Amino acid sequence: MKNRKIILTENEIPDKWYNIMADMPNKPLPPLHPGTMQPIGPDALAPLFPMALIMQEVSADKWVEIPDEVRDIYTIWRPTPLYRAYGLEKALNTPAKIYYKYEGTSPSGSHKPNTAVPQAYYNAKEGVKKIATETGAGQWGSALSFACNHFDMKCEVYMVRVSYDSKPYRKIMMNTWGADVYPSPSNRTEAGRKILSEYPDSPGSLGIAISEAIEVAASDPDTKYALGSVLNHVLLHQTIIGQEALKQMEKAGDMPDIVIAPFGGGSNFAGLSFPFLRLNFEEGRKIRCIASEPASCPKLTRGIFRYDFGDTIGMTPLLPMFTLGHNFVPAPIHAGGLRYHGAGVIVSQLLKDKLIEAVSHSNPEVFEAGILFARTEGIIPAPEAAHGIATVIAEAKKCKEEGVSKTILFNLCGHGYFDMKAYQDYFEGKIKEHVLSDAEIQASLKELTTPEIA
Ligand SMILES: *Cc1c(COP(=O)(O)O)cnc(C)c1O
Repeated sequence: MKNRKIILTENEIPDKWYNIMADMPNKPLPPLHPGTMQPIGPDALAPLFPMALIMQEVSADKWVEIPDEVRDIYTIWRPTPLYRAYGLEKALNTPAKIYYKYEGTSPSGSHKPNTAVPQAYYNAKEGVKKIATETGAGQWGSALSFACNHFDMKCEVYMVRVSYDSKPYRKIMMNTWGADVYPSPSNRTEAGRKILSEYPDSPGSLGIAISEAIEVAASDPDTKYALGSVLNHVLLHQTIIGQEALKQMEKAGDMPDIVIAPFGGGSNFAGLSFPFLRLNFEEGRKIRCIASEPASCPKLTRGIFRYDFGDTIGMTPLLPMFTLGHNFVPAPIHAGGLRYHGAGVIVSQLLKDKLIEAVSHSNPEVFEAGILFARTEGIIPAPEAAHGIATVIAEAKKCKEEGVSKTILFNLCGHGYFDMKAYQDYFEGKIKEHVLSDAEIQASLKELTTPEIA
């Protein structure tokens, strides 16, 4: 029998997260206060985050201990399986070997609980009563609802309007774990009311929803804020994925030449790829790590590297990142988790230093990839994850043309069982290529007043 699934035991769940900052040749530039343009210290984040997470955000330690309580909850779904994609390989008739790490086995169906659980844990330990957050496709809101419920904390979720309307079952999932969910822009906050007064039919965006959740947290001392992507501590927590995958690849007697993951703010990409980039840093290996983004929200492939706000209203510190401009409102594609204007600072610096790569794919291409995967491997991927699959298929085809066998590993970061509407739209011919013009990107970037980075 073929060895299709490579599994680990609970004892093999890593006991530390890997902090890539310790190994980066160029560290990310510091966040700046938008008023003074001076670097901000950890104190500035204290109204929004518990101190333990702030310390992780700026930590230079290469390894960070995973608390036992967190590992204990991780055992509900971790270690996650690693699969060899024999079916997909055969369909592509490629000499490439394709593996995928499947994060859809978590309670909420994606990689997001890997960070939601530790974030809820550190908040609870510091006496926080409620966490406010945003969610795009509903994945992060679900994960945080699940995690807060574990630690008896309230959870208030601002869900991007277009997803709120198209994914009602995500909302009910969050309600089931005890969370309150509001469509964003909402009239519960200044930020939401401002957008609604200008654009009453706004489909919303992650940037707008972040503004709302931050406002709620900043105005209540018992409430903190949590982010499901972008920030350094989020990427740190997700490295559990790649560390497990590394052990599993060793068990399979193989090692990837190429690591691929979809890219929203960078957390699942970082989670899978950083432990492999560690081998590049430590052993001089040349593992290619490729981030895969939508052609309709192409901050890595068509954005600029510049200081910008993490949200739309401009409440966050200025972060040095690849961005399309914080006012950029992406087309309402189904991959809600990838509709974000910027990228995490660590991943941005790695891309600027050419230590990672980025590609983009059109919407129809992504659904074709997702459907081919479903038909050959069984699992129906989240539309976000299908972006990575499109890149895998492109690389596997290259292997075929060049007649070389490479080993490809990708992150199947979530299942698509709440995304049937998206697949329905595809089958009904409603998924169209959305061509984003340079003029649209330039118009959004022109609104940036921050200085360019040399
Ligand atoms: C949130 C999410 C993403 C995008 O966020 P990253 O931080 O870039 O990982 C991608 N896929 C799924 C399934 C998600 O839930």
